Amino acid sequence: MSAFQRETVLSVRHWTDSLFSFTATRDPGFRFQNGQFAMIGLEVDGRPLLRAYSMASANHEQALEFFSIKVADGPLTSRLQKIREGDIILVGRKATGTLITGNLIPGKRLLLLSTGTGLAPFASLIKDPDVYESYETIVLAHGCRQVSELAYGEQVVEALRSHELFGPMIAHKLIYYPTVTREPFRNRGRLTDLIESGQLFSDIGLPPLDLATDRIMLCGSPSMLEELRAMFTARGFLEGNHSEPGHFVIEKAFVER
Ligand SMILES: Cc1cc2nc3c(=O)[nH]c(=O)nc-3n(C[C@H](O)[C@H](O)[C@H](O)COP(=O)(O)OP(=O)(O)OC[C@H]3O[C@@H](n4cnc5c(N)ncnc54)[C@H](O)[C@@H]3O)c2cc1C
Repeated sequence: MSAFQRETVLSVRHWTDSLFSFTATRDPGFRFQNGQFAMIGLEVDGRPLLRAYSMASANHEQALEFFSIKVADGPLTSRLQKIREGDIILVGRKATGTLITGNLIPGKRLLLLSTGTGLAPFASLIKDPDVYESYETIVLAHGCRQVSELAYGEQVVEALRSHELFGPMIAHKLIYYPTVTREPFRNRGRLTDLIESGQLFSDIGLPPLDLATDRIMLCGSPSMLEELRAMFTARGFLEGNHSEPGHFVIEKAFVER
Protein backbone atom coordinates (compact mmCIF):
# COMPACT_ATOMS: atom_id res chain seq x y z
CA MET A 1 0.00 0.00 0.00
CA SER A 2 1.30 3.45 -0.93
CA ALA A 3 2.18 5.84 1.89
CA PHE A 4 -0.23 8.40 0.52
CA GLN A 5 -3.70 8.64 -0.95
CA ARG A 6 -4.69 10.45 -4.14
CA GLU A 7 -7.44 12.95 -3.36
CA THR A 8 -9.47 15.27 -5.61
CA VAL A 9 -9.49 19.02 -5.08
CA LEU A 10 -13.06 20.18 -4.43
CA SER A 11 -12.56 23.94 -4.09
CA VAL A 12 -9.83 26.57 -3.95
CA ARG A 13 -10.03 30.09 -2.54
CA HIS A 14 -7.31 32.72 -2.78
CA TRP A 15 -7.30 35.13 0.14
CA THR A 16 -4.25 37.29 -0.66
CA ASP A 17 -1.24 37.19 -2.97
CA SER A 18 0.44 34.91 -0.46
CA LEU A 19 -2.38 32.88 1.12
CA PHE A 20 -4.96 30.41 -0.15
CA SER A 21 -7.09 27.59 1.16
CA PHE A 22 -8.49 24.51 -0.50
CA THR A 23 -10.67 21.53 0.20
CA ALA A 24 -10.22 17.97 -1.06
CA THR A 25 -11.91 14.61 -0.83
CA ARG A 26 -11.00 12.52 2.22
CA ASP A 27 -10.40 8.80 2.21
CA PRO A 28 -12.76 7.28 4.79
CA GLY A 29 -9.75 5.44 6.22
CA PHE A 30 -7.79 8.64 6.88
CA ARG A 31 -8.09 9.25 10.62
CA PHE A 32 -6.58 12.13 12.54
CA GLN A 33 -6.90 14.03 15.77
CA ASN A 34 -7.89 17.68 15.53
CA GLY A 35 -4.71 19.78 15.58
CA GLN A 36 -2.54 17.23 13.78
CA PHE A 37 -0.68 17.49 10.48
CA ALA A 38 0.08 15.16 7.58
CA MET A 39 2.39 15.17 4.58
CA ILE A 40 0.59 16.44 1.52
CA GLY A 41 1.65 17.52 -1.95
CA LEU A 42 1.70 16.88 -5.66
CA GLU A 43 3.17 14.39 -8.05
CA VAL A 44 5.95 16.19 -9.91
CA ASP A 45 7.75 14.44 -12.78
CA GLY A 46 6.32 11.14 -11.58
CA ARG A 47 7.57 11.58 -8.02
CA PRO A 48 5.78 12.77 -4.89
CA LEU A 49 6.72 16.26 -3.67
CA LEU A 50 5.41 16.47 -0.12
CA ARG A 51 5.39 18.96 2.74
CA ALA A 52 3.91 18.98 6.25
CA TYR A 53 0.44 20.56 6.41
CA SER A 54 -1.95 20.92 9.33
CA MET A 55 -5.50 19.84 8.69
CA ALA A 56 -7.67 22.95 9.00
CA SER A 57 -10.79 20.80 8.82
CA ALA A 58 -12.01 18.85 11.83
CA ASN A 59 -11.97 15.08 11.99
CA HIS A 60 -15.77 14.91 11.95
CA GLU A 61 -15.90 16.64 8.55
CA GLN A 62 -16.21 14.73 5.33
CA ALA A 63 -13.79 16.81 3.27
CA LEU A 64 -10.23 17.86 4.08
CA GLU A 65 -9.29 21.53 4.25
CA PHE A 66 -5.86 23.17 4.20
CA PHE A 67 -4.70 26.77 4.62
CA SER A 68 -1.54 27.47 2.68
CA ILE A 69 1.20 29.97 2.10
CA LYS A 70 2.40 30.72 -1.45
CA VAL A 71 6.19 30.83 -1.54
CA ALA A 72 7.15 32.22 -4.97
CA ASP A 73 10.14 29.92 -5.43
CA GLY A 74 8.97 27.24 -3.02
CA PRO A 75 9.29 23.77 -4.57
CA LEU A 76 5.76 22.77 -3.53
CA THR A 77 3.73 25.95 -3.13
CA SER A 78 4.90 27.56 -6.40
CA ARG A 79 2.94 24.65 -7.95
CA LEU A 80 0.27 24.01 -5.32
CA GLN A 81 -1.04 27.58 -5.58
CA LYS A 82 -2.14 26.75 -9.16
CA ILE A 83 -4.38 23.80 -8.26
CA ARG A 84 -7.99 23.87 -9.39
CA GLU A 85 -11.13 21.95 -8.70
CA GLY A 86 -10.75 18.40 -10.05
CA ASP A 87 -6.94 18.28 -9.71
CA ILE A 88 -5.29 15.48 -7.74
CA ILE A 89 -3.27 16.06 -4.57
CA LEU A 90 -1.39 13.51 -2.49
CA VAL A 91 -2.26 13.10 1.19
CA GLY A 92 -0.09 10.99 3.48
CA ARG A 93 -1.91 8.23 5.32
CA LYS A 94 -0.36 9.04 8.69
CA ALA A 95 -1.29 12.08 10.77
CA THR A 96 0.85 13.24 13.67
CA GLY A 97 1.65 16.29 15.80
CA THR A 98 1.82 17.69 19.31
CA LEU A 99 -1.13 20.12 19.18
CA ILE A 100 -3.64 17.70 20.65
CA THR A 101 -5.64 18.21 23.81
CA GLY A 102 -4.34 14.94 25.27
CA ASN A 103 -0.87 16.52 25.57
CA LEU A 104 -2.21 19.13 27.99
CA ILE A 105 -2.90 18.86 31.72
CA PRO A 106 -6.62 19.63 32.28
CA GLY A 107 -7.35 23.34 32.72
CA LYS A 108 -10.11 25.92 32.44
CA ARG A 109 -8.97 28.31 29.73
CA LEU A 110 -7.39 27.21 26.45
CA LEU A 111 -5.23 29.78 24.65
CA LEU A 112 -4.63 29.01 20.96
CA LEU A 113 -1.86 31.38 19.86
CA SER A 114 -0.96 31.54 16.18
CA THR A 115 0.76 33.62 13.56
CA GLY A 116 0.29 33.33 9.78
CA THR A 117 -0.66 29.85 8.57
CA GLY A 118 -0.14 28.68 12.17
CA LEU A 119 -3.87 29.31 12.43
CA ALA A 120 -4.57 26.08 10.48
CA PRO A 121 -4.45 23.50 13.31
CA PHE A 122 -6.60 25.78 15.46
CA ALA A 123 -9.19 26.11 12.69
CA SER A 124 -9.56 22.36 13.21
CA LEU A 125 -9.52 22.43 17.02
CA ILE A 126 -12.17 25.15 17.36
CA LYS A 127 -14.55 22.85 15.47
CA ASP A 128 -14.05 20.07 18.03
CA PRO A 129 -17.01 19.67 20.42
CA ASP A 130 -14.73 17.97 23.00
CA VAL A 131 -12.68 21.17 23.29
CA TYR A 132 -15.80 23.06 24.40
CA GLU A 133 -16.61 20.28 26.89
CA SER A 134 -13.10 20.35 28.34
CA TYR A 135 -12.60 24.12 28.67
CA GLU A 136 -14.74 26.98 29.97
CA THR A 137 -13.15 29.50 27.62
CA ILE A 138 -11.21 29.15 24.37
CA VAL A 139 -9.21 32.15 23.15
CA LEU A 140 -8.10 32.01 19.52
CA ALA A 141 -5.43 34.65 18.89
CA HIS A 142 -4.09 35.18 15.37
CA GLY A 143 -1.29 37.58 14.55
CA CYS A 144 -0.51 38.77 11.02
CA ARG A 145 1.23 41.67 9.36
CA GLN A 146 -1.72 42.91 7.29
CA VAL A 147 -5.46 42.96 7.92
CA SER A 148 -6.11 41.05 4.65
CA GLU A 149 -4.13 38.10 6.04
CA LEU A 150 -6.74 37.63 8.76
CA ALA A 151 -9.54 36.94 6.28
CA TYR A 152 -9.39 33.14 6.29
CA GLY A 153 -9.52 32.97 10.10
CA GLU A 154 -12.35 35.49 10.23
CA GLN A 155 -14.34 33.39 7.81
CA VAL A 156 -13.75 30.16 9.80
CA VAL A 157 -14.88 31.80 13.04
CA GLU A 158 -17.86 33.48 11.37
CA ALA A 159 -19.01 30.20 9.80
CA LEU A 160 -18.79 28.52 13.20
CA ARG A 161 -20.72 31.27 14.95
CA SER A 162 -23.55 31.06 12.45
CA HIS A 163 -23.55 27.24 12.44
CA GLU A 164 -26.84 25.73 13.58
CA LEU A 165 -25.28 23.33 16.10
CA PHE A 166 -21.98 25.02 16.96
CA GLY A 167 -23.25 28.59 17.13
CA PRO A 168 -25.10 28.30 20.44
CA MET A 169 -22.42 26.02 21.94
CA ILE A 170 -19.53 28.40 21.28
CA ALA A 171 -21.33 31.72 21.70
CA HIS A 172 -20.04 32.35 25.22
CA LYS A 173 -16.93 30.20 25.02
CA LEU A 174 -14.93 31.12 21.94
CA ILE A 175 -13.12 34.45 21.96
CA TYR A 176 -11.43 35.44 18.72
CA TYR A 177 -8.55 37.92 18.97
CA PRO A 178 -7.01 38.93 15.64
CA THR A 179 -4.08 41.34 15.73
CA VAL A 180 -2.01 43.09 13.09
CA THR A 181 1.49 44.56 13.22
CA ARG A 182 1.82 46.72 10.11
CA GLU A 183 -1.52 48.47 9.61
CA PRO A 184 -4.12 50.26 11.68
CA PHE A 185 -6.57 47.76 13.21
CA ARG A 186 -8.66 47.41 16.37
CA ASN A 187 -5.93 45.18 17.91
CA ARG A 188 -2.36 46.06 17.11
CA GLY A 189 0.98 44.54 17.97
CA ARG A 190 2.88 41.26 18.18
CA LEU A 191 1.20 38.49 20.13
CA THR A 192 4.36 38.07 22.19
CA ASP A 193 4.20 41.71 23.37
CA LEU A 194 0.44 41.64 23.88
CA ILE A 195 0.76 38.63 26.19
CA GLU A 196 3.87 39.86 28.00
CA SER A 197 2.21 43.21 28.77
CA GLY A 198 -1.16 41.63 29.62
CA GLN A 199 -2.83 43.82 26.97
CA LEU A 200 -4.42 40.84 25.23
CA PHE A 201 -6.24 39.85 28.43
CA SER A 202 -7.41 43.36 29.25
CA ASP A 203 -8.63 43.77 25.65
CA ILE A 204 -10.85 40.70 25.95
CA GLY A 205 -11.91 41.55 29.50
CA LEU A 206 -10.54 38.37 31.10
CA PRO A 207 -8.10 37.75 33.97
CA PRO A 208 -4.34 37.73 33.21
CA LEU A 209 -2.29 34.65 32.42
CA ASP A 210 -2.60 32.09 35.22
CA LEU A 211 -0.66 28.84 35.56
CA ALA A 212 -3.49 27.30 37.58
CA THR A 213 -6.13 27.68 34.87
CA ASP A 214 -4.45 28.36 31.51
CA ARG A 215 -3.40 25.77 28.97
CA ILE A 216 -1.72 26.94 25.80
CA MET A 217 -1.14 25.75 22.26
CA LEU A 218 1.33 27.61 20.04
CA CYS A 219 1.76 27.47 16.29
CA GLY A 220 3.71 30.08 14.37
CA SER A 221 7.07 31.17 13.07
CA PRO A 222 10.16 29.63 14.70
CA SER A 223 11.08 33.00 16.28
CA MET A 224 7.60 33.57 17.75
CA LEU A 225 7.67 30.08 19.21
CA GLU A 226 11.07 30.57 20.81
CA GLU A 227 10.04 33.86 22.42
CA LEU A 228 6.81 32.48 23.80
CA ARG A 229 8.40 29.23 24.97
CA ALA A 230 10.94 31.27 26.95
CA MET A 231 8.22 33.52 28.38
CA PHE A 232 5.93 30.67 29.47
CA THR A 233 8.79 28.61 30.87
CA ALA A 234 9.96 31.60 32.93
CA ARG A 235 6.44 31.80 34.38
CA GLY A 236 6.48 28.15 35.46
CA PHE A 237 4.56 26.61 32.55
CA LEU A 238 5.83 23.16 31.54
CA GLU A 239 5.97 22.06 27.91
CA GLY A 240 3.93 18.95 27.18
CA ASN A 241 4.46 16.17 24.68
CA HIS A 242 3.21 12.69 23.88
CA SER A 243 4.94 11.08 26.84
CA GLU A 244 4.08 13.73 29.43
CA PRO A 245 1.26 16.28 29.28
CA GLY A 246 2.13 19.86 30.21
CA HIS A 247 0.72 23.37 30.47
CA PHE A 248 1.62 24.22 26.88
CA VAL A 249 2.44 22.54 23.57
CA ILE A 250 4.23 23.81 20.48
CA GLU A 251 4.23 23.13 16.74
CA LYS A 252 6.21 24.96 14.10
CA ALA A 253 4.06 26.53 11.37
CA PHE A 254 7.05 26.08 9.05
CA VAL A 255 10.76 25.36 9.09
CA GLU A 256 13.37 27.89 7.95
CA ARG A 257 15.40 26.30 5.16
C1 LIG B 1 4.48 20.68 11.34
C2 LIG B 1 4.33 21.59 10.15
C3 LIG B 1 3.04 21.96 9.72
C4 LIG B 1 2.89 22.84 8.63
N1 LIG B 1 1.64 23.22 8.26
C5 LIG B 1 1.48 24.12 7.24
C6 LIG B 1 0.19 24.60 6.88
O1 LIG B 1 -0.84 24.20 7.43
N2 LIG B 1 0.13 25.51 5.88
C7 LIG B 1 1.24 25.98 5.23
O2 LIG B 1 1.12 26.82 4.34
N3 LIG B 1 2.48 25.53 5.56
C8 LIG B 1 2.62 24.61 6.53
N4 LIG B 1 3.87 24.14 6.84
C9 LIG B 1 5.01 24.54 5.98
C10 LIG B 1 5.03 23.59 4.76
O3 LIG B 1 5.49 22.32 5.19
C11 LIG B 1 5.95 24.10 3.62
O4 LIG B 1 7.13 24.62 4.11
C12 LIG B 1 5.24 25.14 2.76
O5 LIG B 1 4.13 24.54 2.13
C13 LIG B 1 6.14 25.70 1.67
O6 LIG B 1 6.57 24.65 0.86
P1 LIG B 1 7.55 24.92 -0.38
O7 LIG B 1 8.05 23.61 -0.88
O8 LIG B 1 6.82 25.79 -1.35
O9 LIG B 1 8.73 25.78 0.23
P2 LIG B 1 9.81 25.35 1.43
O10 LIG B 1 11.06 25.01 0.69
O11 LIG B 1 9.14 24.27 2.21
O12 LIG B 1 9.89 26.65 2.20
C14 LIG B 1 10.66 27.75 1.72
C15 LIG B 1 10.68 28.85 2.77
O13 LIG B 1 9.39 29.46 2.80
C16 LIG B 1 9.09 29.89 4.12
N5 LIG B 1 7.81 29.23 4.51
C17 LIG B 1 7.46 27.95 4.29
N6 LIG B 1 6.21 27.71 4.78
C18 LIG B 1 5.79 28.86 5.32
C19 LIG B 1 4.59 29.26 5.98
N7 LIG B 1 3.57 28.37 6.15
N8 LIG B 1 4.49 30.52 6.41
C20 LIG B 1 5.51 31.41 6.21
N9 LIG B 1 6.66 31.10 5.60
C21 LIG B 1 6.82 29.85 5.15
C22 LIG B 1 10.25 29.46 5.02
O14 LIG B 1 11.12 30.55 5.18
C23 LIG B 1 10.92 28.38 4.21
O15 LIG B 1 12.28 28.34 4.49
C24 LIG B 1 4.04 23.29 7.94
C25 LIG B 1 5.32 22.89 8.34
C26 LIG B 1 5.46 22.07 9.44
C27 LIG B 1 6.86 21.68 9.89
